[in-house]
Amino acid sequence: MEVIFLGSGNAFYSENMDMSSLLIRLDDFDILVDCGPGCLKNYLKYAGKLHKLKYIFLTHFHGDHTGGLPFLLLYLGHFHQDLPKPVIIGPRGAKNRIRKLCDACYQGSRLIKGLAFREIGKRHLEQRLFVGQNVEFRTYAMAHKKESLAYRITIGDISMAITGDTGWNSKIVEMSEGCELLISECSTLTPETPGHLSVSEWLAKIDLLKAKLIVPVHRGKDVRGALEKEGRLPVKILQDGDKLVF
Ligand SMILES: [Zn+2]
Repeated sequence: MEVIFLGSGNAFYSENMDMSSLLIRLDDFDILVDCGPGCLKNYLKYAGKLHKLKYIFLTHFHGDHTGGLPFLLLYLGHFHQDLPKPVIIGPRGAKNRIRKLCDACYQGSRLIKGLAFREIGKRHLEQRLFVGQNVEFRTYAMAHKKESLAYRITIGDISMAITGDTGWNSKIVEMSEGCELLISECSTLTPETPGHLSVSEWLAKIDLLKAKLIVPVHRGKDVRGALEKEGRLPVKILQDGDKLVF
């Protein structure tokens, strides 16, 4: 399994990183988590073809996490019209939001035609859910927008937790317990933006996080430098195009 970082930055192209997109590549298919505006470009650049894309998980509806979808869907419709469309898994209301987004970009193009949506409601939170036969996932409500979800995805004996955007909350500890990988947002140096995490909050809580490896994403200016200065943390700072192999 490969985890390929397609976009590790925030909504401001901080430190020249693209907006949120993460690719999990399995032998048989790809899973995308969020689809920021640069997603298609980086998918092609760092992972090659899109023909194995089967599932797209969305953490929330902000444009830096969903704005690449119209172009990704346009590409699939143009170059892979013979393949089944991916399934979109996201918060309640996902279908309506994505339909409106696609319609605003290409009115009447029916970009979402043939897409299956699976919306996660309150009653599904923290439940053991599946897509396909071998991808198990749980969702956790996060402290960002009212629809925000984090995902803990388990494939075989590898579990990874992905926070999406969020302020600090105890579910981050719970969902990352026993994970090989925690991909957590870390937006600023000090707490300054509600609904986001900072380096100082991270450092105060890092002993609580039991994932083997933590990768900060949605990184703002100087976050990389501040974390690197700390050293000795179970933290790896990755750039767009970097990959982890499990
Ligand atoms: Zn957001």
